[in-house]
Amino acid sequence: MPYCSHCGAQLPDGAPACPQCAVTRPGPIVREAAADKPSGALAVLAFLFPVVGFALWFAWRQPSPLRARSVRRAAVWGVVVGGIATVVAFAVYMAVIVSVMKKLS
Ligand SMILES: [Zn+2]
Repeated sequence: MPYCSHCGAQLPDGAPACPQCAVTRPGPIVREAAADKPSGALAVLAFLFPVVGFALWFAWRQPSPLRARSVRRAAVWGVVVGGIATVVAFAVYMAVIVSVMKKLS
């Protein structure tokens, strides 16, 4: 799928002008050629499943360093946030246990 070289809008195949910014003869560029770019969906996946993120980072280090770095960053955040969430959940759990014990005694 071609993209407008001026505004980046997606162009219908064979369009003489960009429907977004009306640049005539927009000289479509194929953005897929630049395959190595961070991916939002993969970053979310890596955040939710850091193991997957680290695996993707390991697999992509050579062919796509930019994308690899973005999934690694997301995976690290997933570990950090997941660790904090676990600690908070444990603290809440302990507080509930303690309050129940106090009520019972
Ligand atoms: Zn355009």
